[in-house]
Parts: sequence; C-alpha cells; structure tokens
Amino acid sequence: MTGSILGTTKVVGLIGSPVEHSLSPVIHNAAFRHLQLDYVYVPFPVHPDGLARAVRGLFQAGIAGLNVTVPHKERVLDCLDRVDHYAQVLGAVNTIVKEDGQLVGYNTDGPGFIQSLQAEGVDVRGKTVLVIGAGGAARAVAFALGQAGVREIIFVNRTVERAQNLKREIDDLVQVEVLPLTPETLQKSLQCCQIVINTTTVGMYPHTDNTPVPGQLLQPRLTVVDLIYNPLETRLLRAAKRAGCKTVSGLGMLVYQGAASFELWTGKTAPVGVMTDAALAKLNR
Ligand code: NAP
Repeated sequence: MTGSILGTTKVVGLIGSPVEHSLSPVIHNAAFRHLQLDYVYVPFPVHPDGLARAVRGLFQAGIAGLNVTVPHKERVLDCLDRVDHYAQVLGAVNTIVKEDGQLVGYNTDGPGFIQSLQAEGVDVRGKTVLVIGAGGAARAVAFALGQAGVREIIFVNRTVERAQNLKREIDDLVQVEVLPLTPETLQKSLQCCQIVINTTTVGMYPHTDNTPVPGQLLQPRLTVVDLIYNPLETRLLRAAKRAGCKTVSGLGMLVYQGAASFELWTGKTAPVGVMTDAALAKLNR
C-alpha cells in the first residue's frame, strides 16, 4: 500500500467466516507500505453457501490473490483449476494465486510453522513430538513435522476418533501414537518427548486462565510451542517459562505463513520483521 488507492492498485485479500478479527490485513498492509508496493489487502466475509461464486467473482473482478481461512480451507479445493502437491496431500488450501489464467491453490501453514521454529533455533529432526489437539491446525502441523523428519508424533486429543483419523492420514509419513487427553496420558507422553505443541484452542482469548497441560508436568528439557497468538503468552507458555523450558508462541507461524503467501503473490521477499512488529503492535494495543 503506497498511501492511496489508485486505479493501478492490486487487491489481495482473505475469505473466511468470520474474518473481522484476522491479523492478516495488519501484517500484509504493513509489508506493502514498507516495500512501497501498490497493493492493498482486504478481508471478505464469505458464507459457505457462496464460496464458489465468491472465488470466481473476486478473480473475475481482478483480485491478485487470496488467503483462505476457516471454514473454507478444504472446500475451496473444488473451486480451483490446480492445487500444488503439498496442499493436495493436506487436502487444504490457504493461499490462491492466479497463474497463466488458472487459479492455483497452495498451503503455507505447515511450511510457515516449520520456519517459525527454525527462526527460534528449534530443530525437529529426529525428535519425538507431543501434539495436543487434532483439528485443522494439528493436521497442517503434523504433515509439516512428518515432512521435516521427526521421529514420532504422539497425538493427545479430547476426541480420540479425530486423532485416529489423522493418524490414518499420515501413517505412511511418520510413526504415530494416539492417546486420549487425560492428566495420566499427558504425564506419560511428556516423559518421552522433546517438543510439546498445543494446537487446541485451550488458553485462547477470552479463556486465558485455561491450559491444556498442568504446569507441574513441565520439565526444563522440553521445548513448548503454543499455536495460540492471542494472548501472545498463554498460561501454558508462562508455566513453561517458569519451569525453565524453551518456549515458542503462535505469532511466528502466523507471520511466516503470511510471508510465504506474500511472496507467492508479489514475487518479493517478505519483510518478516516489519510484519512481526505490525502484529505485535496490534496485539499489544
Ligand atoms: P479446530 O479445528 O476447531 O480444532 C480445535 C482443537 O481444540 C481440537 O483438537 C479440539 O478437540 C480441541 N479443543 C477445543 N476445546 C477443547 C477443550 N475444552 N478441551 C480440550 N480440547 C479442546 O481449530 P484449529 O483451526 O485447529 O485451531 C486451533 C488453534 O490453533 C486455535 O487457537 C488457533 O488460533 C490456532 N492456530 C494458530 C495459527 C497460527 O498461525 N499461529 C494457525 C492456525 C490455528 P476435539 O477434537 O475434541 O474437539
């Protein structure tokens, strides 16, 4: 965004429901301003019934690219001409680009997650990773972990069947164990893992007093990752810091998946620091 919207301004945006609280407009518009690119990022609330019409209509109206969020990430595949291999395997798209007149789907969530760990000096290769949760975020994280060469993933989820379905999907990529979410299974799995990742909504604003892991189970040798970025420091991360663990918040994943979308649309290197600062300023406000 160069300051004003002109006839030449390229529009990119986000489709989802809801989109009102998304931080993506904040981080992308900060990046466009910083690089003085003639782009603007706009959120579009799209009801599931109108998904296909909205995607076609927005691209017919000249939009340069889209992010896709809940609840459209899976169903949007049917609206596209082509889906890249990783997004196809995952069955979920979060970024759409128009390439040679064709709508092409990508998924930057998993790579963004791994990049956010690398940025914090966390190497997942050969590690046993405890993933708490088995929803959409857990799926993206698990595929990325499998591709990045972890030794084993232990899924602990309130609804065991959901984790078992996920295990079936990634069984040929990585060794997987599934357990119900109880204090006993958490205690047992925390003893044999090196990295713990909360992919549940437990601890997210406004229920910030909740935590998926009792603090007394955390040991200093663990790296504790929380995908939640609101609040930036969840009760889980506070307890992990007190216990002497290395901690990683969800902000990095948010920024790096956005940076990868930015690069797909513009062909420019994303200013990750600027995007992080913009998100922090908004979250701290
Ligand atoms: P989702 O598909 O709805 O999955 C929610 C998960 O949370 C499920 O495993 C669910 O268990 C579990 N859960 C919910 N309430 C629970 C409770 N009271 N006790 C125990 N488990 C509970 O959501 P999602 O899209 O995966 O998102 C999950 C979290 O990741 C959110 O906080 C989201 O903000 C965050 N996220 C962050 C980023 C990022 O860029 N940092 C990206 C994506 C998502 P059941 O299966 O039993 O229902």
